[in-house]
Amino acid sequence: MEGERRVLRKRKALDKDVRRMEYISSFLSIASESSRIIVFTGSGISASAGLSTFTSKGGLYERAMKRFKVKDGMKLFCNSHYRRHPKDCLALMGEIYDEATAASPTEAHLAIGRLETRGRLVRHYTMNIDGLHQLVRGATTWTGVRDCPGKTVSLHGCCRELLCTNASCDAPKVSTMTQAHARAFKGRKDVRCSACSEPTRPKIMLYDDADSELITPDLVMEVMDEDISKCDLVLWVGISFQQSASLEYFRNVQRVIKELGRGEEVTQAIINPDEDSWFNAISGMNNMDNTKVIPVVCDANTILSEL
Ligand SMILES: [Zn+2]
Repeated sequence: MEGERRVLRKRKALDKDVRRMEYISSFLSIASESSRIIVFTGSGISASAGLSTFTSKGGLYERAMKRFKVKDGMKLFCNSHYRRHPKDCLALMGEIYDEATAASPTEAHLAIGRLETRGRLVRHYTMNIDGLHQLVRGATTWTGVRDCPGKTVSLHGCCRELLCTNASCDAPKVSTMTQAHARAFKGRKDVRCSACSEPTRPKIMLYDDADSELITPDLVMEVMDEDISKCDLVLWVGISFQQSASLEYFRNVQRVIKELGRGEEVTQAIINPDEDSWFNAISGMNNMDNTKVIPVVCDANTILSEL
């Protein structure tokens, strides 16, 4: 009896492995035929560069919770908290800058760069604020203007940039953040705009950010809709789908694909080392008929290098 059970368990695990490999090989064959690819990336893609993810154990939220003695570390990324305790939030952003600038792009970042230089990338939307994608040779950046051909859209800003939020300042709103600026933020000092002398902040999007239009204009959602009308493959890479923003993007893509009747033409792949993210993404959806969303349970560096 016990022996039978053991065999059954082994068999199940084997079936799961077989299914996983089938998904991977079907993904690779579809991807090899795709020339109009949209990539969405989350913090999982930078994990192998040594960067902290938000929600994982020991991640940014947990560290913020301990450091700044708040019940939920996510608070440090909320506009309401920022308005009440700006110095805490800015100090954390200074730390994020240090961590990001000490890291290098991963194989997955380089692979997305290759898709771009080979003309196969419609757009790369990243939720990451580490700016690692900008370090890839040949990678271009979307500047917030509708017809900008730049490929990478930093949906939530970038920790390597400073933002002057003073509406009457004539200078460009965005400038490069330096180590000295990061040090000042960590030391709870103001970093002032060189043109208008008002305090600046890193260009990192907070929840309900009052400056969101300056960080990533709402226009981005229209650009995304247009991109979806011309893509044949959507990759969701290193995203746990535990945060509301990523689910909103996912739902938006499903909505547009459905509205355009492109369910048969567009394949989507959720690439993550554990299959929970695939489950998290699709479990909130009530109608996934006629949409192809494949779980690709695999390391992003390995699988994207195959494209
Ligand atoms: Zn200014």
